Amino acid sequence: MSGKNSFKILEKIFKPKTPQKIEEIKGYTIKYGTIHENKNIIDEVLVSYFKAPKSYTTENMCEINSHGGIVVVRKILDLCLKNGAELAEPGEFTKRAFLNGRIDLLQAESVIDIIDAKSEKEARAGIQQLEGKLSQEIKQIKQKIMDVMVNLEVSIDYPEYDVEEVTKEELTTMLTDTKKRLKTLEKSFDDGKIIKEGIKTAIIGKPNAGKSSLLNAILKENRAIVTEYEGTTRDTIEEFITINGIPLKLIDTAGIRNAKDEVEKIGIEKAKQIAKNADLIIAIFDSNKKLTSEDKEILELIKNKKAIIILNKIDLKPAITEETEEFKQIKNKIIKTSALKGKGIEELKQKITQLFNLKEIELDNEVVITNLRHKNLITKAIHNVDEAEKTIQANMPIDIVSINIKNILENLNTITGEEVSEEIINEIFAKFCLGK
Ligand code: GDP
Repeated sequence: MSGKNSFKILEKIFKPKTPQKIEEIKGYTIKYGTIHENKNIIDEVLVSYFKAPKSYTTENMCEINSHGGIVVVRKILDLCLKNGAELAEPGEFTKRAFLNGRIDLLQAESVIDIIDAKSEKEARAGIQQLEGKLSQEIKQIKQKIMDVMVNLEVSIDYPEYDVEEVTKEELTTMLTDTKKRLKTLEKSFDDGKIIKEGIKTAIIGKPNAGKSSLLNAILKENRAIVTEYEGTTRDTIEEFITINGIPLKLIDTAGIRNAKDEVEKIGIEKAKQIAKNADLIIAIFDSNKKLTSEDKEILELIKNKKAIIILNKIDLKPAITEETEEFKQIKNKIIKTSALKGKGIEELKQKITQLFNLKEIELDNEVVITNLRHKNLITKAIHNVDEAEKTIQANMPIDIVSINIKNILENLNTITGEEVSEEIINEIFAKFCLGK
């Protein structure tokens, strides 16, 4: 519970083993006791106390730890509600932390990212954002703009002082610097998107080429980090595997697995469709068999795509190698594996890392944007920098320039939540789960 009345409500239902006045209980204390309704003990619990302003929401807060399960937890929740508490909306605790000014909107949003993280890197990016690295960068950019704005306002208010020329030069320098920093942030979204959404990866190949064996071989080495998520459309499952900390989002793995029983042909149309939406295609061939026309079609399909070609079953006698005519031109894309024996998997991972420059995503040294909302606002801000520059070049009155610059500030304030509509706030927090 969080809020003014939370301790009052708690006192009605919680009997500490050693009674103590609420004023005497310090924040960050845990007390042992029982939750009761009338004379009946509902459960034996531990209650943590957090006192305003030193709590998650900055309000008085208490947290009841019961034995868990469904019945008892429900009962305790009911008791809280009966005694005057209200059920939290999704994300309400974090929303309060934001509205009460303990964290900015960027930090609040990072909480969702941390909870939803599918890979270590994604979680790290979230933590970094929670720590305020991105907020700080935005704040610094804003500060630089505002330093110059002060002079600008002087020239507007006191034109007789003729500071305009100096100001223009200062403005131009500031705008150049601002644009550079914003562009760096904007560009970081390429990495951020990968960190957050994963590299959409399709594994294609004829039946029996070894698709599911390869998948299993990769999964075996990643046993702990295979995760299944409900897809954006409800009936799909999204599967992620992590390679060097970066998630690969596997497309249509269900298709690969289900195809087992059906004597289905590969269906080049299907492969085309899958490949179209992929950031990375892993095309797998049975090196024990000669290339068929279907195989050649697959090769054609991936020609201009980020792709890795796998010659699988190298433990058997080869019918095709990297010297085979069709492969000669694309030798550098080829990895030889034996999915059965777990050979070549490490090389495959390295190849993927190489293809996407994944090593370069070093979160310790740089701020990475992972959120589309932030990216869009930064793009808008860059556009407004361009506008401001144009206005200066066209020798427009300085108060027009000032409007452009205010727009940049507004974009940045919307990112951190200083200037943001209630609708957007509600939309952001609706993505949270209950009780966060
Ligand atoms: P999929 O239809 O493409 O998913 O192919 P599977 O992974 O089901 O593999 C088809 C058959 O090839 C199975 O009997 C596998 O055990 C076998 N297989 C897969 N990879 C290898 C390999 O590297 N070497 C050998 N010898 N057999 C393999």
